[in-house]
Amino acid sequence: MTSTTIDAAVREVRARGLRASAARRLVLTALLAADQPVSAEEVASGLRGRTAPSDLGSVYRNLDTLERAGVVRHLHAPHGPSLYTLARDNEAGYLSCVRCGEMRAADRATLAGVRAALRDSAGYEGAFLSFPIVGVCGTCRP
Ligand SMILES: [Zn+2]
Repeated sequence: MTSTTIDAAVREVRARGLRASAARRLVLTALLAADQPVSAEEVASGLRGRTAPSDLGSVYRNLDTLERAGVVRHLHAPHGPSLYTLARDNEAGYLSCVRCGEMRAADRATLAGVRAALRDSAGYEGAFLSFPIVGVCGTCRP
């Protein structure tokens, strides 16, 4: 899935046999507006004024439904609640800084190199989607 607009995301939801209710559109709008994975609380609070606020219970229910349908996925942050993002076919993975908490998408080509090295050395097929690679970002590194 490569939805970059609300119309495309709504089409994805309908293609999976779900109703694109106002509450689900609101969740999708927030995930599209966010430039990194966000918590259910951040979605419910409206991303600090960027999207409409909504009921936290409703956000959780809709994130769960959308995740089971394959439209949304979550990843485990090193600290704090699970973070949600739109599921994308070409997604590589995320980097998370233990000092400042920055979370950003990892460079796809770099991760492909890491996967290839793991495959060659250990016969292991690495998946980086459920957990970010935790470390120290360039700004926080001494
Ligand atoms: Zn940092």
